[in-house]
Amino acid sequence: MTPTSFEALPLAAPLHRVLQELEYTTPSPIQAQAIPLLLEGRDLLGCAQTGTGKTAGFALPILNALHDRPTQVRSRCCRTLVLAPTRELASQVGKSFATYGRHVRFSHTLIYGGVGQVPQVNAMRRGVDVLVATPGRLLDLIDQRHVDLSQVEFFVLDEVDRMLDMGFLRDVKRIVSLLPARRQSLFFSATLAPNIVELANTILRDPAHVSIAPQSTTAEKIDQKICFLSRESKRPLLEQLLRAQAGVQGQNLTIVFSRTKHGANKLAKSLTAAGFAADAIHGNKSQAQREKALDRFKKGLTPVLVATDVAARGVDVKDVGLVVNFDLPNEPEAYVHRIGRTARAGAEGKAVSFCSEDELEFLREIEKTIKMPIPRWDDHNWHVEELALSHDRAKSRGHQSGSSKPASGGGGGGNRRRYGRGRR
Ligand code: AMP
Repeated sequence: MTPTSFEALPLAAPLHRVLQELEYTTPSPIQAQAIPLLLEGRDLLGCAQTGTGKTAGFALPILNALHDRPTQVRSRCCRTLVLAPTRELASQVGKSFATYGRHVRFSHTLIYGGVGQVPQVNAMRRGVDVLVATPGRLLDLIDQRHVDLSQVEFFVLDEVDRMLDMGFLRDVKRIVSLLPARRQSLFFSATLAPNIVELANTILRDPAHVSIAPQSTTAEKIDQKICFLSRESKRPLLEQLLRAQAGVQGQNLTIVFSRTKHGANKLAKSLTAAGFAADAIHGNKSQAQREKALDRFKKGLTPVLVATDVAARGVDVKDVGLVVNFDLPNEPEAYVHRIGRTARAGAEGKAVSFCSEDELEFLREIEKTIKMPIPRWDDHNWHVEELALSHDRAKSRGHQSGSSKPASGGGGGGNRRRYGRGRR
């Protein structure tokens, strides 16, 4: 039986206390399923994306164990290792541990690239209860003998699908090979493609499975719209949307997705020039720059954030009322991740996607993945009916032939490079 209130869960008093303070009364579906299994010591294979409450789903049972069984951690060792694909996600998870564990005596630290290693090495010298790390820098520090994984009791692999997209498979396998056999392992991914299940089988022992379908949790609450228009019309329509969003009380933050880093920079600059307080985050910016941009965004100082997919992973900002796909992603799962940046934790949100002629193929793939057509918004000044009709015609051809591959011919095929690896 899955619990319907946190009180029904056998968590330690300091954790019940923080849940009360945070005013979390009802466990989210993934928490209701995962927490009891994890408290029993089971391994877990979780199919869930961010926005479902999965971080508390794994952090609470781990903190519970750390509270129940406090031990002295050896130098350079950690009792819990959480691997995350990006620096943003790692710091988000670190912050969640700090929040949920604020009445528990435990130590934690972060390890990620792009910043000096000395503070990270110093933090590990004493050993920590919880280490949240990205794979590359962690292996660097292991190779330099600053980190020792032989005492890990809890191992969490978060956002595995993204981790593999980013080419971390070998690093992850090496890290797993350094863990002790006796451990509790948790594995989370937004999708369970065969290569992901294969990896899970090499890591988990008799895992319990929990699955939270993205469509029925996040996507359903999001008011999604697709606009057919020319490339040149994207800017004026975006400005119209931003002006409207600026007036929405409590939900005035907007994330605008661009397919490329260069495009993100260009767009942020031109929006700034047009009088919008906008900034860009992407992989070419330093960690300090990204954190600063994110902080200013959260505070509403720059309410428009232009981002690439990788940079926006794990960005958890409650007041994002609008996500704009200025460019459609060439990887359909990225669409689900992107729109999941809005409608966080039960709030309502909007996602508006722009589709120009060269992106029709991406749109077909996205609609196939989310198994629904995105409602059309054509009541704006830049609507191109011919594109909408062309999309309808291609869809009906796809149905007739039963083909799973969209008709080629749309441009943009060259953009597949970044995510092409090992998918589809
Ligand atoms: P996550 O999927 O872990 O990134 O969590 C998404 C958001 O939901 C975060 O802002 C959490 O603080 C919030 N959250 C997680 N669990 C609950 C809950 N049971 N009740 C209310 N909010 C929650």
